[in-house]
Amino acid sequence: MLTIESPATGSKIAEVSEDDAHSIAAKYAAARSAQPAWAVTPLANRCDILRRFRDALLSDVDRLAAVLTSETGKPIRQSRNEINGLPARIDFFLDSVERVLSPREVHNDAGMVERISHEPLGVIANISAWNYPYFVGGNVFVPALLTGNAVLYKPSEFATLTGLEIGRLLHAAGVPAQIFAVVTGDGAVGAELIKQPIDGVFFTGSYATGQRIARDAGARMIKLQLELGGKDPTYVCDDVDIAKAAASLADGAMYNTGQSCCSVERIYVHQKIHDVFVHAFVNEVAALKGGDPADESTTIGPLTRAPQIKILEQQVADAVAKGAKLVLGGARMPSVGNWFAPTVLVDVDHTMEVMREESFGPIIGIQKVASDAEAVRLMNDTDYGLTAGVYTTDERRAKSILAQIRAGSVYWNCCDRVSPRLPWSGVGHSGVGLTLSTYGIEAFTRPKAWHLKSA
Ligand code: NAD
Repeated sequence: MLTIESPATGSKIAEVSEDDAHSIAAKYAAARSAQPAWAVTPLANRCDILRRFRDALLSDVDRLAAVLTSETGKPIRQSRNEINGLPARIDFFLDSVERVLSPREVHNDAGMVERISHEPLGVIANISAWNYPYFVGGNVFVPALLTGNAVLYKPSEFATLTGLEIGRLLHAAGVPAQIFAVVTGDGAVGAELIKQPIDGVFFTGSYATGQRIARDAGARMIKLQLELGGKDPTYVCDDVDIAKAAASLADGAMYNTGQSCCSVERIYVHQKIHDVFVHAFVNEVAALKGGDPADESTTIGPLTRAPQIKILEQQVADAVAKGAKLVLGGARMPSVGNWFAPTVLVDVDHTMEVMREESFGPIIGIQKVASDAEAVRLMNDTDYGLTAGVYTTDERRAKSILAQIRAGSVYWNCCDRVSPRLPWSGVGHSGVGLTLSTYGIEAFTRPKAWHLKSA
């Protein structure tokens, strides 16, 4: 049995039965035998089913948001934002899938025709994270289902109730139960799932788990996509509207209590405006309101996972020991549940863990820089490469800086942003493969090359 606890209070909210080797093998076998019929179901029917799922989400937002908030501690307005945000992604996939799947003739000369068609991969495993279960799950299972795959979906053990809701809604919309099966449990259940003879693993989670999955699945020559962590930097130039930049970045660093893969995790500020920026930034963060995540006015919730508190405490202790100055927060909050005060550190440098290791919590280091060149060097001084940004009023300066940055997504005067129209990917320890955009539909297919010569 999997016990689901409230991160806000530590109290038990549910018990859910866990899958085991036997039930996982049965779900795999059912998916394998049902997938060919799903693959030849007309695309228009698959689209209708996913459109019904989209509509069902929208008509049940309040209840679904309450479930998400109860098990992850995400502030309720942010839970609603997430669920309300998924339909736009589904719409993108619905609008684009036919174009992506249409066979293309790429050559026709002297009786030789060359064509490309796209076939589904088959049965895939979708192993997901808890921080945005609708987004990171939907980025995989929506295009996977639309392109004719069967999906064995393992939600995070910290978002199991939401995973079960997603399964229920997809089945009610018309996805056959064998074609989308929810596999419940922790990492050991995920590891068991990967042992099945699946055709692809689409994983969202930490670098450490991504490495293990790459090791376990790598030798099998199946499609492997790993969307992993980040240590996302932003550089604030000397020409910005300081109040505006501070407000935008405080939101980017602290939204979802800092537990976004693309949260701003490091800020570099030009020395000319450093002190004024820090003052404005701290005021923004100090104005955030912690409290019951079910309360409409709450903007900071608990951490979803209790062990993360120790990591944040360690990052603060390490930074302070090496000369950083703590200007806000810095400690767990003395209450039940997984609470950590929003934290701002200045006078930080790259010897400190807070500037190198993913924090995944409401904590940020701000470092002073003397030039654009120094900022670029520091932003690239990382094992990760998910997103990076620059704030400046000068478009040429922004584009020149961003062109030098090694990251999957780059931002000018914005942060913590994902678009269904653009590919979502990372470099280095941030992962391999991508979701979203038309590439993120193709990712669930195998392009087949046709060489056709008339007799
Ligand atoms: P995690 O790695 O702890 O767990 C992710 C999933 O993997 C869970 O479902 C877990 O049960 C499963 N798992 C654990 N061990 C496994 C194993 N050995 N074999 C198979 N499955 C296993 O990550 P998390 O705490 O759920 O998520 C937070 C991390 O995810 C952060 O690093 C964050 O940056 C990253 N993330 C990345 C993106 C992105 O798009 N790049 C999006 C969201 C989250």
